Amino acid sequence: MFDLHVLGTSGSRPTKNRSVSGNYLSTPHGNLIIDCGEGFQDRLVKHELDLKKNPIGIRARISKIKVILLTHSHLDHCWGLLPLLKTMQLDGRAKPLTIIAPSTIEAIEWAENNYGDSIPSNSNINPSDFALLFREWRTHIENTSSKNIFKINWLLIPILGNNLHNLINQPIKGIKLTAIPTNHTIVSVAWFIESTENSDRRVLISGDTKYNVPGFKEEILNNPIDVLIHEATFTHELSEKAGEHGHSTSLEAGKVASDVNAKVLGMVHFSPRITDFKEIEKESRINHQKSFVCNDGDIFCVSNNGKISFLRKSQNSWHEHNMQ
Ligand SMILES: [Zn+2]
Ligand SMILES: [Zn+2]
Repeated sequence: MFDLHVLGTSGSRPTKNRSVSGNYLSTPHGNLIIDCGEGFQDRLVKHELDLKKNPIGIRARISKIKVILLTHSHLDHCWGLLPLLKTMQLDGRAKPLTIIAPSTIEAIEWAENNYGDSIPSNSNINPSDFALLFREWRTHIENTSSKNIFKINWLLIPILGNNLHNLINQPIKGIKLTAIPTNHTIVSVAWFIESTENSDRRVLISGDTKYNVPGFKEEILNNPIDVLIHEATFTHELSEKAGEHGHSTSLEAGKVASDVNAKVLGMVHFSPRITDFKEIEKESRINHQKSFVCNDGDIFCVSNNGKISFLRKSQNSWHEHNMQ
């Protein structure tokens, strides 16, 4: 049903064993990427090669990607996008692709009418807003002599307060995508992904955020979440720092998992200064027992009937982790 591959678990910059943010989700109707930090395509290619060598019946092919969802424009979440698009072009991709990212009405209008001018100092437009980045990236991708230009639908969603944003035209039949505004230092969203045919399965990916997102409530999301991927940049000891930088602690990640009634919590986006990952799980389990520190390459499999298995990666292969 859903296979969710966690391909980057470090916050802000890569470490020896962890890369920055990026996830691959396969669904029966088409596959998605959620965030695409620096070096993402390289990781995905290596991950797919390891999957090919291991007969676990799961794959993560670049050619199957239909949609790329971005949570916010910090580099550790989006800087791998342009090289990935270039590779798709070089591979002769013909199928269209949809890329969706949050922005603001002000930035979208500015990019439409004044792109290239200096942004007035009295405006609230962030110079790295996706409305401006998309213009830049399109120039690179469309500036080619190649005849193989696949169609890209660049979609900006204007985030307004805390309102959940339901896409009017869903890009994948049988899958409903909803952007939930989060509380970070720039405009940012979480992505809520639901299956709508045959079964009602649901995953939620937080992106970067402080605790206390109004949309992260069971009564707003209506039903339990199968898998919540939530950032846990720091432990509670650095809760003040987490708040200042628009991030959550592991204690708070566990609270969110309990608030949205998640069956399983996978934690990601750890500060490079964290060395004690047992402490991360200990803290989150105060509020949510089924909380796990994710490593790069881990996979959550959600079956049609809601059974969840957690495949942990070690030494280029996977084993099922006992979640009891
Ligand atoms: Zn980040
Ligand atoms: Zn960020």
